[in-house]
Amino acid sequence: MLDKPTYMIDPSAMKNMACDRKFLFTVKDGYHYTKLNPAMEWGSAFHTFAASYYKGTELKESMQAGLVYYQTRLAQGLRVKEKDQRNLVRLVEAITLYAKKYPLEKDSFKVEQNSKGACIEQSFGIPLYCGEKYNIVFSGTIDLIGTYRGEKVFMDHKTTSNYLTQSGKFFESYELDTQFLAYNWALSYLANLKDSKLSEYKNAGGLVNGIFNTQSKVEFERSPLIEYPDHLRASFDKYMRGSFLKKVRDLIENGPSSYGWACDSCSLKFGKCCYWEVCNRPDGVDAETMMTMLDYETKPYNPLNHGRL
Ligand code: SF4
Repeated sequence: MLDKPTYMIDPSAMKNMACDRKFLFTVKDGYHYTKLNPAMEWGSAFHTFAASYYKGTELKESMQAGLVYYQTRLAQGLRVKEKDQRNLVRLVEAITLYAKKYPLEKDSFKVEQNSKGACIEQSFGIPLYCGEKYNIVFSGTIDLIGTYRGEKVFMDHKTTSNYLTQSGKFFESYELDTQFLAYNWALSYLANLKDSKLSEYKNAGGLVNGIFNTQSKVEFERSPLIEYPDHLRASFDKYMRGSFLKKVRDLIENGPSSYGWACDSCSLKFGKCCYWEVCNRPDGVDAETMMTMLDYETKPYNPLNHGRL
Protein backbone atom coordinates (compact mmCIF):
# COMPACT_ATOMS: atom_id res chain seq x y z
CA MET A 1 0.00 0.00 0.00
CA LEU A 2 2.96 2.31 0.58
CA ASP A 3 4.29 2.50 -3.00
CA LYS A 4 1.29 4.43 -4.31
CA PRO A 5 -0.78 7.34 -3.03
CA THR A 6 -3.45 6.65 -0.46
CA TYR A 7 -6.21 9.24 -0.47
CA MET A 8 -7.69 9.66 2.98
CA ILE A 9 -11.24 10.95 3.07
CA ASP A 10 -12.71 12.06 6.37
CA PRO A 11 -16.30 13.22 7.02
CA SER A 12 -15.43 16.91 6.57
CA ALA A 13 -13.82 16.21 3.18
CA MET A 14 -16.96 14.32 2.21
CA LYS A 15 -18.95 17.49 2.71
CA ASN A 16 -16.71 19.15 0.11
CA MET A 17 -18.15 16.90 -2.58
CA ALA A 18 -20.74 19.54 -3.45
CA CYS A 19 -17.92 20.97 -5.58
CA ASP A 20 -15.55 18.69 -7.51
CA ARG A 21 -12.80 21.26 -7.40
CA LYS A 22 -13.05 21.78 -3.64
CA PHE A 23 -12.96 18.03 -3.04
CA LEU A 24 -9.85 17.57 -5.18
CA PHE A 25 -8.04 20.54 -3.63
CA THR A 26 -8.63 19.00 -0.21
CA VAL A 27 -8.33 15.25 -0.78
CA LYS A 28 -6.10 14.77 -3.82
CA ASP A 29 -3.80 17.79 -3.47
CA GLY A 30 -4.01 17.81 0.35
CA TYR A 31 -4.25 21.60 0.64
CA HIS A 32 -4.81 22.96 4.10
CA TYR A 33 -4.70 26.42 5.57
CA THR A 34 -1.65 27.13 7.71
CA LYS A 35 -2.78 30.41 9.31
CA LEU A 36 -3.82 29.80 12.91
CA ASN A 37 -7.30 30.83 13.96
CA PRO A 38 -8.51 31.36 17.56
CA ALA A 39 -11.82 29.47 17.26
CA MET A 40 -10.14 26.35 15.93
CA GLU A 41 -7.13 26.51 18.25
CA TRP A 42 -9.13 27.27 21.42
CA GLY A 43 -11.30 24.23 20.62
CA SER A 44 -8.20 22.11 20.05
CA ALA A 45 -6.72 23.27 23.37
CA PHE A 46 -9.93 22.18 25.11
CA HIS A 47 -9.74 18.84 23.25
CA THR A 48 -6.17 18.40 24.49
CA PHE A 49 -7.30 18.98 28.06
CA ALA A 50 -10.28 16.60 27.66
CA ALA A 51 -8.16 13.79 26.16
CA SER A 52 -5.89 13.92 29.19
CA TYR A 53 -8.76 14.33 31.68
CA TYR A 54 -10.66 11.27 30.42
CA LYS A 55 -7.49 9.20 30.65
CA GLY A 56 -7.80 9.79 34.39
CA THR A 57 -4.87 12.19 34.63
CA GLU A 58 -4.93 14.70 37.52
CA LEU A 59 -6.96 17.82 36.73
CA LYS A 60 -3.97 20.11 37.24
CA GLU A 61 -1.88 18.13 34.79
CA SER A 62 -4.70 17.91 32.26
CA MET A 63 -5.24 21.66 32.48
CA GLN A 64 -1.54 22.16 31.96
CA ALA A 65 -1.70 20.04 28.78
CA GLY A 66 -4.46 22.29 27.37
CA LEU A 67 -2.65 25.48 28.36
CA VAL A 68 0.67 24.36 26.91
CA TYR A 69 -1.11 23.58 23.63
CA TYR A 70 -2.60 27.08 23.46
CA GLN A 71 0.56 28.86 24.62
CA THR A 72 2.52 27.06 21.92
CA ARG A 73 0.05 28.29 19.29
CA LEU A 74 0.31 31.84 20.65
CA ALA A 75 4.09 31.61 20.45
CA GLN A 76 3.71 30.40 16.85
CA GLY A 77 1.84 33.57 15.91
CA LEU A 78 -1.80 32.95 16.82
CA ARG A 79 -3.43 36.37 17.27
CA VAL A 80 -6.43 36.73 19.60
CA LYS A 81 -8.22 40.07 19.52
CA GLU A 82 -8.76 41.89 22.81
CA LYS A 83 -12.50 41.26 22.92
CA ASP A 84 -12.28 37.66 21.73
CA GLN A 85 -13.30 35.20 24.45
CA ARG A 86 -10.99 32.52 22.99
CA ASN A 87 -8.14 33.49 25.30
CA LEU A 88 -6.05 31.77 27.98
CA VAL A 89 -8.07 33.15 30.92
CA ARG A 90 -11.28 31.73 29.47
CA LEU A 91 -9.54 28.42 28.83
CA VAL A 92 -8.62 28.10 32.51
CA GLU A 93 -12.19 29.06 33.49
CA ALA A 94 -13.71 26.58 31.03
CA ILE A 95 -11.55 23.69 32.24
CA THR A 96 -12.24 24.48 35.90
CA LEU A 97 -16.02 24.71 35.36
CA TYR A 98 -16.07 21.59 33.17
CA ALA A 99 -14.34 19.50 35.83
CA LYS A 100 -16.84 20.83 38.39
CA LYS A 101 -19.83 20.01 36.21
CA TYR A 102 -18.52 16.61 35.10
CA PRO A 103 -16.27 15.21 37.85
CA LEU A 104 -14.92 11.92 36.47
CA GLU A 105 -16.23 9.73 39.28
CA LYS A 106 -19.79 11.12 38.98
CA ASP A 107 -19.95 11.74 35.24
CA SER A 108 -22.76 9.80 33.50
CA PHE A 109 -20.30 9.26 30.64
CA LYS A 110 -17.73 6.53 31.32
CA VAL A 111 -14.91 6.04 28.87
CA GLU A 112 -14.39 2.50 27.50
CA GLN A 113 -11.16 0.77 28.45
CA ASN A 114 -9.56 -1.81 26.23
CA SER A 115 -6.17 -3.54 26.17
CA LYS A 116 -4.55 -0.37 24.79
CA GLY A 117 -6.06 1.82 27.54
CA ALA A 118 -8.89 4.34 27.41
CA CYS A 119 -10.75 4.70 24.07
CA ILE A 120 -9.85 8.33 23.49
CA GLU A 121 -9.19 9.88 20.10
CA GLN A 122 -9.79 6.56 18.41
CA SER A 123 -8.54 6.76 14.83
CA PHE A 124 -10.01 4.52 12.17
CA GLY A 125 -9.31 3.78 8.51
CA ILE A 126 -11.79 1.83 6.42
CA PRO A 127 -10.29 0.69 3.09
CA LEU A 128 -12.72 1.52 0.28
CA TYR A 129 -10.50 0.84 -2.70
CA CYS A 130 -7.13 -0.71 -3.29
CA GLY A 131 -6.04 -0.34 -6.93
CA GLU A 132 -2.87 -0.55 -8.97
CA LYS A 133 -2.26 3.19 -8.91
CA TYR A 134 -3.83 4.42 -5.67
CA ASN A 135 -5.85 3.51 -2.60
CA ILE A 136 -8.85 5.19 -1.01
CA VAL A 137 -9.44 5.00 2.73
CA PHE A 138 -12.26 6.52 4.72
CA SER A 139 -10.75 7.82 7.94
CA GLY A 140 -11.40 9.88 11.02
CA THR A 141 -10.86 10.24 14.74
CA ILE A 142 -13.58 9.73 17.34
CA ASP A 143 -13.05 11.87 20.45
CA LEU A 144 -14.40 9.42 23.03
CA ILE A 145 -16.01 5.98 23.10
CA GLY A 146 -17.81 4.72 26.17
CA THR A 147 -21.13 4.37 27.95
CA TYR A 148 -23.64 7.05 28.80
CA ARG A 149 -26.38 6.16 31.25
CA GLY A 150 -25.81 2.53 30.31
CA GLU A 151 -25.92 3.07 26.51
CA LYS A 152 -22.95 2.44 24.20
CA VAL A 153 -22.00 5.78 22.68
CA PHE A 154 -19.36 7.88 21.00
CA MET A 155 -19.00 11.43 22.20
CA ASP A 156 -17.63 14.38 20.25
CA HIS A 157 -16.68 17.73 21.80
CA LYS A 158 -18.16 20.68 19.90
CA THR A 159 -17.23 24.23 20.80
CA THR A 160 -19.58 27.01 19.75
CA SER A 161 -20.09 30.71 20.42
CA ASN A 162 -23.87 30.08 20.49
CA TYR A 163 -25.69 30.71 23.75
CA LEU A 164 -26.87 27.75 25.78
CA THR A 165 -30.44 28.93 25.13
CA GLN A 166 -29.81 28.01 21.48
CA SER A 167 -28.66 24.49 22.36
CA GLY A 168 -31.81 22.83 20.94
CA LYS A 169 -31.11 24.02 17.38
CA PHE A 170 -27.37 23.46 17.84
CA PHE A 171 -27.84 19.82 18.86
CA GLU A 172 -30.49 19.25 16.21
CA SER A 173 -27.97 20.20 13.53
CA TYR A 174 -25.97 17.07 14.42
CA GLU A 175 -28.86 14.61 14.14
CA LEU A 176 -28.19 13.76 10.51
CA ASP A 177 -24.73 15.25 10.36
CA THR A 178 -22.50 13.21 8.04
CA GLN A 179 -19.74 13.10 10.63
CA PHE A 180 -21.98 11.52 13.26
CA LEU A 181 -23.55 9.03 10.86
CA ALA A 182 -20.05 8.16 9.60
CA TYR A 183 -18.81 7.56 13.16
CA ASN A 184 -21.74 5.24 13.83
CA TRP A 185 -20.87 3.38 10.60
CA ALA A 186 -17.14 3.31 11.43
CA LEU A 187 -17.81 1.89 14.88
CA SER A 188 -19.96 -0.88 13.43
CA TYR A 189 -17.03 -1.65 11.07
CA LEU A 190 -14.55 -1.74 13.99
CA ALA A 191 -16.98 -3.82 16.07
CA ASN A 192 -17.21 -6.46 13.34
CA LEU A 193 -13.44 -6.91 12.94
CA LYS A 194 -12.03 -10.24 14.12
CA ASP A 195 -11.25 -10.19 17.87
CA SER A 196 -12.55 -6.64 18.09
CA LYS A 197 -12.36 -4.99 21.49
CA LEU A 198 -15.32 -2.85 20.47
CA SER A 199 -17.70 -5.67 19.55
CA GLU A 200 -20.44 -4.17 21.72
CA TYR A 201 -20.40 -0.93 19.73
CA LYS A 202 -22.14 -2.26 16.59
CA ASN A 203 -24.79 0.42 16.84
CA ALA A 204 -23.44 3.09 19.16
CA GLY A 205 -25.41 6.31 19.62
CA GLY A 206 -23.86 9.73 19.23
CA LEU A 207 -23.53 12.40 21.87
CA VAL A 208 -22.51 16.04 21.38
CA ASN A 209 -20.50 17.33 24.30
CA GLY A 210 -21.43 21.00 23.85
CA ILE A 211 -19.05 23.75 25.00
CA PHE A 212 -20.96 27.05 24.74
CA ASN A 213 -18.24 29.66 24.87
CA THR A 214 -19.90 33.06 24.44
CA GLN A 215 -18.42 36.49 25.06
CA SER A 216 -19.93 36.70 28.55
CA LYS A 217 -19.53 33.13 29.88
CA VAL A 218 -18.80 29.50 29.18
CA GLU A 219 -21.37 26.75 29.84
CA PHE A 220 -21.73 23.05 29.06
CA GLU A 221 -24.52 20.77 28.02
CA ARG A 222 -24.79 17.39 26.32
CA SER A 223 -27.20 16.59 23.54
CA PRO A 224 -29.94 14.00 23.71
CA LEU A 225 -28.68 10.62 22.47
CA ILE A 226 -28.63 10.48 18.66
CA GLU A 227 -29.56 6.98 17.51
CA TYR A 228 -29.50 5.38 14.08
CA PRO A 229 -31.81 2.62 12.79
CA ASP A 230 -30.15 -0.37 11.11
CA HIS A 231 -31.65 0.47 7.70
CA LEU A 232 -30.02 3.93 7.70
CA ARG A 233 -26.59 2.50 8.45
CA ALA A 234 -27.15 -0.15 5.73
CA SER A 235 -28.00 2.61 3.22
CA PHE A 236 -24.93 4.58 4.26
CA ASP A 237 -22.74 1.50 3.82
CA LYS A 238 -24.20 0.88 0.36
CA TYR A 239 -23.66 4.52 -0.60
CA MET A 240 -20.07 4.65 0.65
CA ARG A 241 -19.03 1.47 -1.16
CA GLY A 242 -21.15 2.22 -4.22
CA SER A 243 -21.96 5.62 -5.71
CA PHE A 244 -19.69 7.58 -3.34
CA LEU A 245 -16.65 5.47 -4.23
CA LYS A 246 -17.50 5.58 -7.95
CA LYS A 247 -17.70 9.38 -7.85
CA VAL A 248 -14.41 9.70 -5.93
CA ARG A 249 -12.58 7.42 -8.37
CA ASP A 250 -13.99 9.33 -11.29
CA LEU A 251 -12.78 12.62 -9.78
CA ILE A 252 -9.30 11.28 -9.04
CA GLU A 253 -8.90 9.72 -12.47
CA ASN A 254 -10.65 12.29 -14.67
CA GLY A 255 -10.58 15.58 -12.74
CA PRO A 256 -13.43 17.97 -11.97
CA SER A 257 -16.52 18.16 -14.13
CA SER A 258 -18.81 20.38 -12.06
CA TYR A 259 -18.15 23.37 -9.87
CA GLY A 260 -19.47 24.93 -6.69
CA TRP A 261 -21.60 27.49 -8.44
CA ALA A 262 -23.84 24.70 -9.74
CA CYS A 263 -25.12 24.03 -6.22
CA ASP A 264 -24.32 27.37 -4.62
CA SER A 265 -21.51 26.05 -2.44
CA CYS A 266 -19.09 28.93 -3.18
CA SER A 267 -21.02 31.08 -0.73
CA LEU A 268 -21.43 29.73 2.77
CA LYS A 269 -23.90 30.79 5.45
CA PHE A 270 -21.35 33.06 7.13
CA GLY A 271 -18.81 33.73 4.41
CA LYS A 272 -17.36 32.18 1.33
CA CYS A 273 -15.65 28.93 0.38
CA CYS A 274 -12.07 28.80 1.68
CA TYR A 275 -10.81 28.45 -1.93
CA TRP A 276 -12.73 31.41 -3.32
CA GLU A 277 -9.61 33.55 -3.87
CA VAL A 278 -8.00 30.63 -5.71
CA CYS A 279 -10.94 30.10 -8.04
CA ASN A 280 -11.32 33.84 -8.49
CA ARG A 281 -7.58 34.48 -9.00
CA PRO A 282 -6.39 37.01 -11.58
CA ASP A 283 -5.74 35.80 -15.11
CA GLY A 284 -2.18 34.58 -15.59
CA VAL A 285 -1.75 33.31 -12.00
CA ASP A 286 -1.96 29.54 -11.58
CA ALA A 287 -3.84 27.87 -8.74
CA GLU A 288 -0.68 26.50 -7.12
CA THR A 289 0.95 29.94 -6.92
CA MET A 290 -2.25 31.43 -5.51
CA MET A 291 -2.44 28.70 -2.85
CA THR A 292 1.10 29.50 -1.73
CA MET A 293 0.35 33.25 -1.66
CA LEU A 294 -2.66 32.52 0.57
CA ASP A 295 -0.66 30.39 3.07
CA TYR A 296 -1.97 27.01 1.97
CA GLU A 297 0.28 23.98 2.27
CA THR A 298 0.01 20.56 0.69
CA LYS A 299 0.26 18.02 3.45
CA PRO A 300 -2.23 15.21 3.14
CA TYR A 301 -4.23 14.54 6.27
CA ASN A 302 -3.77 11.15 7.89
CA PRO A 303 -5.43 10.57 11.27
CA LEU A 304 -3.83 7.10 11.43
CA ASN A 305 -0.53 8.91 11.53
CA HIS A 306 -1.82 11.35 14.18
CA GLY A 307 -2.39 14.28 11.89
CA ARG A 308 -0.72 15.49 8.76
CA LEU A 309 1.95 13.35 7.13
S1 SF4 B 1 -14.95 28.70 -4.59
FE1 SF4 B 1 -16.65 27.56 -5.48
S2 SF4 B 1 -15.80 26.60 -7.33
FE2 SF4 B 1 -14.06 27.22 -6.03
S3 SF4 B 1 -13.57 25.43 -4.81
FE3 SF4 B 1 -14.97 26.69 -3.62
S4 SF4 B 1 -17.01 25.86 -4.04
FE4 SF4 B 1 -15.62 25.14 -5.64
